[in-house]
Amino acid sequence: MSLPFALNPALAGLPVYQPGRPIEEVARELGLPERGIVKMASNENPLGPSPLALAALKRAARKLNLYPDGNAFYFKQRLAAKLKLEPAHLIPGNGSNDLLEFLAHALLAPGTEALMSEYSFVVYPMVTRLLGANPVIVPARAYGHNLVAMRQAITPRTKLIFVGNPNNPTGTLAPARQLREFLDQVPPRVVVAVDEAYIEFLEKPLDLLPLIRRGNKPNLILLRTFSKIYGLAGLRLGYGIAHPEFIAALEKIRQPFNVNSLAQAAGLAALDDEQHVRKTRQNNLAGLNLFAAAFREMGIEFVPSSANFILVKVGQGRSVFAALQARGIIVRPVDIYQLPQWIRISIGTPRENQRCLSALKAILSDRDFARR
Ligand code: PMP
Repeated sequence: MSLPFALNPALAGLPVYQPGRPIEEVARELGLPERGIVKMASNENPLGPSPLALAALKRAARKLNLYPDGNAFYFKQRLAAKLKLEPAHLIPGNGSNDLLEFLAHALLAPGTEALMSEYSFVVYPMVTRLLGANPVIVPARAYGHNLVAMRQAITPRTKLIFVGNPNNPTGTLAPARQLREFLDQVPPRVVVAVDEAYIEFLEKPLDLLPLIRRGNKPNLILLRTFSKIYGLAGLRLGYGIAHPEFIAALEKIRQPFNVNSLAQAAGLAALDDEQHVRKTRQNNLAGLNLFAAAFREMGIEFVPSSANFILVKVGQGRSVFAALQARGIIVRPVDIYQLPQWIRISIGTPRENQRCLSALKAILSDRDFARR
């Protein structure tokens, strides 16, 4: 049946986001027990949620009959104190995805453009097209952002630039000096969204918060999330950091209760769980090193990563994804990023990493598989 009414024309040709496959679904399909399956497909925290967050969650559950605090007062206060900012610099999101959509609503319309790099997060072009605007994709350099080319691609129609740093799905990090120069050179009429979903995995990240504190970069917004290092992807909690006037404008777009009360309570507690963050970072660095060393030894190309996943060139990405899945390991094919020969593997626990590597080695050395 075709619908008897006209849809928003922006929806024509707009794909539906395809997330990493859930363990339950793959278990059902393969007839395997769920505990036999590992998911290394969505850049989640393999050590689980912060124990402090879990305890807070249980306490908060007793008040689920009440609406959440629509202003996330305590969450913002704690976050502001930690970041040495004011609560007015912060806006909470139902995941940082929510923030990407706020930006599109706030800035884009038919006839306008948003700039982004080739091989950057698939949601950037999706939210751009949802608003009828034009995504302008700037060719990458060594799988990362070519910031010089991105600046040169700015036109009078450009309203918004997305910079994933570290970038998903490649794990690349823009050199600090280049990013600073870029931020200096972008005209103030164009908003730059630096998506820092993976920033906590870095030992010494470039700190852009002083630019926000000083108040002289109203066109800069930083996006962060509790889905990655804090291990709370299932709760959906992210936030934006920007000039209070920009935040006030975005507040008009935000749903009153976009962040539920469990997420607010757990997020607040997770901020204090430095031990969990430290352990996760250490586990991640060890895992990244393990994969990099193994790929070097196997003689296969990979992109050195600053995040909690690694992009590796395996030949036919879709077939290797399927072969790994048949062995109970879910990774992410990246053909939608025009990288059909690659897969993206999220760093797991040491055991999961070893299991994934042995399976990958077995698959790639299987001559029958190579001929397929
Ligand atoms: N930005 C980037 C670069 C991401 O990789 C992701 C998650 N895959 C997000 C934003 C959105 O994450 P969330 O909505 O869970 O905060």
